[in-house]
Amino acid sequence: MMLFLLACGNEESSPEASSGIDETPEITATPEITSTPEATATPEPTATPEATATPEPPATPEATATPEPTATPEPESTPTPAPTATKAPTITPKPTATAVPTKKPVPKINVAPGEKYDFCIDPGHGFADPGTQGLLGKGVYERNVTLAMSLLLKEELEGRGYKVLLSHDGINQPDEDEIMKQADALGLEYDKTRFTKNKVFYAYERTIWSNVLYLDHAYDAIISLHVNYVSNPNVTGYHVYYCTQNDCSASSKLLAEKLTEALKKGYPKKTVKLIPKNYADAYQVTKYSIMPSILLEMGFASNPGEAKDLMNEEWRAEYVKAVADGLIAYKNS
Ligand SMILES: [Zn+2]
Repeated sequence: MMLFLLACGNEESSPEASSGIDETPEITATPEITSTPEATATPEPTATPEATATPEPPATPEATATPEPTATPEPESTPTPAPTATKAPTITPKPTATAVPTKKPVPKINVAPGEKYDFCIDPGHGFADPGTQGLLGKGVYERNVTLAMSLLLKEELEGRGYKVLLSHDGINQPDEDEIMKQADALGLEYDKTRFTKNKVFYAYERTIWSNVLYLDHAYDAIISLHVNYVSNPNVTGYHVYYCTQNDCSASSKLLAEKLTEALKKGYPKKTVKLIPKNYADAYQVTKYSIMPSILLEMGFASNPGEAKDLMNEEWRAEYVKAVADGLIAYKNS
C-alpha cells in the first residue's frame, strides 16, 4: 500500500477523550447488544515488574532530532512528516549531553530501526489494565488473550513473509516520557494530559507509541485485538471497527472490509459485523492513529462458547489465519 502523508486529526476532544482512560467501553452499536460493563475484573496486581526491564544500550547520538515542520495548531489535519523509508532511527532513546538517565527503557520492539514493516499489532490492554474477564476462566483476562493472539498473529504473518511490529510485548511497560520525547522529535501531535504517567499503558499511549513506530517503520496498517463483553450471554460474533472521520478513514474502511470478508469466509456460521464509528464514538486506536487502523473484537467473553474458543489453542491458531488473510488482502489491494 501507499504511504500516507497526512496525519489524522488528533486534537479533537470527545466526551470520553478527557478521561485519559482506556478506549474500551466495550460499547457496540448493535441493537441487540445492551450494556457494557467495563471489566468486572478486579485489576489484580500486575505481574510485570519493570525490574525485568533490560537496560537500554546507549544509543546513537542525537542526529535524529531533525526539526519538524511545525504546522499551525489547527484542530485537525495537521500535516506530519512523511514516513520515508530513510527516516532516521529513533527507536532507542538517545541520551543528550545533559542526559538525565532514563528511568525505564523503551520497549524492545524487536526492530531494526528505520526498517520498513508491513503491519503493527496492538494487543488490547496489558500491564495494569486487565480488560474484561467474563467467562475466560480464573485469573485470565482480556489482556492475556489479546497478547497471546497478537503473538500468534505475528507468527502467522511472519510465516507468510511479512514483517510485523507489536505496540507492546506485555512484559516491558513502555516509558511514557520516552514516548513523548520521541513523538516530539518526530513532530507528532498528541495530548500530554492524557498520558497516565507510567501508571498504566492505556490505549492512548499505545496509540501515540504506534504512531511513533509508524513514522519510523512505515508499516501499512495497525490492528488492535480485543475481547468483547456484554451482559447478555447469548450475544456472539466478531466485530470489526474503524473510524469514519479521520484522514485515514478511506483506507481504514477498506482494511475493515477485507478483514470482515476474511472472517466471514473462515467462519460462515458466525455473525461478523463491520461497524463504522464516527469520530466522537470511535475507539482511540482507530481515531488517533495516523495510519489505517482497525479494532477487532475477537468474540465475547460473556458467551460460554466463544469464551471457550478464545481459550482454545486450535481455535486460536485457525482464527489468526483468517485475520492474516484479511490483512494481507488489504495490503495487496
Ligand atoms: Zn478491550
